[in-house]
Amino acid sequence: MDLGLAGKTALVTGGSSGIGLATVETLLAEGANVALCARNGERLSAVAATLAARFGDRVLAQVCDVLDEVSIGALRAAVLARFGGLDILVNNAGQGRVSTFAETNDAAWTEELNLKFFSVIRPTRAFLPDLKASGAGSVVIVNSLLAKEPQPHMVCTSAARAGIQNLARSLTREFAPTVRVNTILIGIVDSGQWERRFQAQAAPGQSRDTWMADLARDKGIPLGRLGQPSEPARAIVFLASPAAGFITGAALEVSGGISHHV
Ligand code: NDP
Repeated sequence: MDLGLAGKTALVTGGSSGIGLATVETLLAEGANVALCARNGERLSAVAATLAARFGDRVLAQVCDVLDEVSIGALRAAVLARFGGLDILVNNAGQGRVSTFAETNDAAWTEELNLKFFSVIRPTRAFLPDLKASGAGSVVIVNSLLAKEPQPHMVCTSAARAGIQNLARSLTREFAPTVRVNTILIGIVDSGQWERRFQAQAAPGQSRDTWMADLARDKGIPLGRLGQPSEPARAIVFLASPAAGFITGAALEVSGGISHHV
């Protein structure tokens, strides 16, 4: 199947690691021009050098905090200068917060709601004129299954994720018919977040493979393992592509079957 991505331009926020990086690599392999951003310049430069060696000037990496409007404005200027427009926005940057209601103070609530909402609102607002002008404009929001199945140990992330599904539904209606908006509901994917939790929580001497296998078993993932970043990446790239031209407002679960709702 031809996804129709050759010559299209995409931006992946949080593209220096995990699901975002896998999405960048998949888009590049499909022939798209790809801009990626993240906050840590050192890691971003290392990733960009590797990608540029494979894909040349179809790669643009720029440091940008998606919560910072000025930084997003500078990123947009760079994308337009290099590629002349934007067809696809993947709002992926972010991370989850582990805390119960009792453990979450107002500052933590504010920080989490701010991250989840404005990591989508600010890039989408900045690039909307370009997406509308594209003729094949598309937004994919990388969200979590917590939106539909809240977990008490991730109380504010769950609530914020539900709000993002609601926001996505509004954007779907407001941006149609020029720009499509879809979401991905991630279960547990072996990426930077889980690497950090492994480092913090593993028993002395416990191997990474054992810790991840125990996690998959404890979480009851029917497919028996965590997802790999390339797996949501392929779903993101499909929904973003012209091949999904009649799909908008979808919420695609990539979780190994972990959800219980119908
Ligand atoms: P990683 O930690 O591997 O990657 C996160 C990326 O986002 C990094 O490139 C990071 O770079 C970047 N980032 C974080 N905050 C900002 C910011 N404010 N501005 C710009 N870039 C930022 O995480 P994952 O690949 O696991 O996660 C990707 C998305 O999927 C996240 O939104 C996450 O919450 C979501 N998700 C992941 C799940 C999982 O199991 N992995 C489950 C459910 C949802 P830097 O730190 O340098 O800015």
